[in-house]
Amino acid sequence: MPVKKSDLLIVGGGAGGMVLALVLARKGFRVSILDRQDPPMPAPRGEILQPNGLKILNRIGILSGLLRAGVHRCDRVRFYQGAGEHLCTIDYTRLLPPYNYALILLPEILQQLLLEKLKAEPHIETYWDTSFRDVIREGQQVIGLSADVCGQTVSFHAPVVVGADGLRSRVRDAFQIKHQLYAYADGYVTMVVDRPPGFQRDVRYYLGKEMIFGAFPVSKNRIYLFYLVPTDRLQRTHDKSIDHLKREILSLNSEVNALFTEPLEAISSWEQCSYMRCFRVISNSWVVNGGALLGDAAHAMNPHVAQGRNSAMEDALALAKAIEDCFKQGIFSKEALGGYETARRRDVDSLQKIGHEMAWLWNSGFSPVVWARDRVFRSLHVQGRLHDKMLNTVAGLEISPLNLADRCRALFPEQFDAV
Ligand SMILES: Cc1cc2nc3c(=O)[nH]c(=O)nc-3n(C[C@H](O)[C@H](O)[C@H](O)COP(=O)(O)OP(=O)(O)OC[C@H]3O[C@@H](n4cnc5c(N)ncnc54)[C@H](O)[C@@H]3O)c2cc1C
Repeated sequence: MPVKKSDLLIVGGGAGGMVLALVLARKGFRVSILDRQDPPMPAPRGEILQPNGLKILNRIGILSGLLRAGVHRCDRVRFYQGAGEHLCTIDYTRLLPPYNYALILLPEILQQLLLEKLKAEPHIETYWDTSFRDVIREGQQVIGLSADVCGQTVSFHAPVVVGADGLRSRVRDAFQIKHQLYAYADGYVTMVVDRPPGFQRDVRYYLGKEMIFGAFPVSKNRIYLFYLVPTDRLQRTHDKSIDHLKREILSLNSEVNALFTEPLEAISSWEQCSYMRCFRVISNSWVVNGGALLGDAAHAMNPHVAQGRNSAMEDALALAKAIEDCFKQGIFSKEALGGYETARRRDVDSLQKIGHEMAWLWNSGFSPVVWARDRVFRSLHVQGRLHDKMLNTVAGLEISPLNLADRCRALFPEQFDAV
C-alpha cells in the first residue's frame, strides 16, 4: 500500500479544516487535507459570518475578497411576531469597529475563496474525492490514517491527524471518542429567490407559535428564505403541494405577502427547495494521542446561535497554536494537544447551551413559552445592556450568557429600570 508523509493530516475541507491548513502551511508545516467531495462544497443555505469569524478571515487575507464578491453586509437583524408586530432589533453597529457588522452569504462563496488560497500554498497537498477509512495506530498513539483515493487505499502518516469531517465524523468514531448526537425536532425548508425591491438591508425573522420564517439577503439580488417544518411533519408537508407551503408563508402578514408574492412565483417544485436538519454534538473529549477534532465533529450546535462555522474557524486558530507547541516539544500526546480543548471548551459549551435554549424558546408552540419569548425580545430591544451582552455573545466577541438576574430583568422589565 503506498504511504504518504506529512506533518499534519486533516480530514474535511470545510471552513474549519481549510483555515487550519492555511495557518499551519504558512508557518512551514507540510499539510495534507482530504475530503470525500471534489471539490468540497457546503450545503446551499444562507449563513451568517459573525464578527469573530470576520476577524479570522481578515487575518488569513480573505475578508477583502469576500466583501468584493458582493456578499451582504448586515448591520441589523429584526425580529417580528408572525402577525408582523416588531419585537426587537439586534444592532451590530453598537459593537466596536471595525468588526461591527456581520456578513450574510451562501457559504460556497467563502469556500471558493478558501480553495483558491489553498491552491496557492506550496506546503499544502489536497486530496479530493478521498474518503477517510480508519486511523493507523502505534500502540495508543495515532500516527496516520488510511483513505480511499480514487478507488485505491492509501496510507498517510503524520504526527497529528485532525478530524474536521463534520457532525457525523468518522474520525471521531475511529478515535473512539464517546459522544452524543442529538437531532433537533425541527428543521427548515429553505430556498433562494430574487430579492424583492422593497426589502431593505436588515435581516428579518418572523416568530409565531411553532413558526419561524426568516429572510436573509445574501447578495444585492438574491435572498435566502427558511421556514420551520418539524421533521416528523416533513412528509405531510411534501404530500401537500409546494403551493400550499407558499400560501402558508404568504398568509403570515400583509408585509410578507407584499414582499414575497412575486419572488416566490419562481418556486414551482420541491426540487428548488432544500430541507436543513439541525443537530448538536457533545463529545467527551476533543483530543487523543496524536489526534484532535474540530468544528462540528467536536461540537455541532443549533444554528439559531449562528456560530457553527465561526466556531470551527476559531477552533482552527487555537488548534494551530497547540500543534505548533507540540512540534516545538516533539510531543504529540493527548495532554500536549489538550491545551487546545482547554482554550476553547468553555466558550463552545456556552454557545451550544445558548443555541439549545434559543431553539426551545424560539421554536415553541406552547403559549406560555411564546409569551415569555416575546417579552424577552421586547426587553432586549429597550434594555441596552442586555442587548449588548447578547449581541457580544452571538457575535463571538465575548461569550457571556444571560445570568439569572439578566433573565429576570428580561422577563419582568417593569420591575427594573430600563437602561
Ligand atoms: C440550517 C443551518 C444553518 C446554519 N447557519 C449557520 C450560520 O448562520 N453561521 C454559522 O457560523 N454556522 C451556521 N451553521 C453551522 C455550520 O454550517 C457548520 O457548523 C459548519 O459548516 C461546520 O464546519 P466544519 O468545518 O466543522 O464542517 P463541515 O463544513 O461540515 O465540513 C466537513 C467536511 O468533511 C467532509 N467529510 C465528511 N466525512 C468525510 C469522510 N469520511 N472522508 C472525507 N471527508 C469527509 C465533508 O465532505 C465536508 O466537506 C448552520 C447549520 C445549519 C444546519
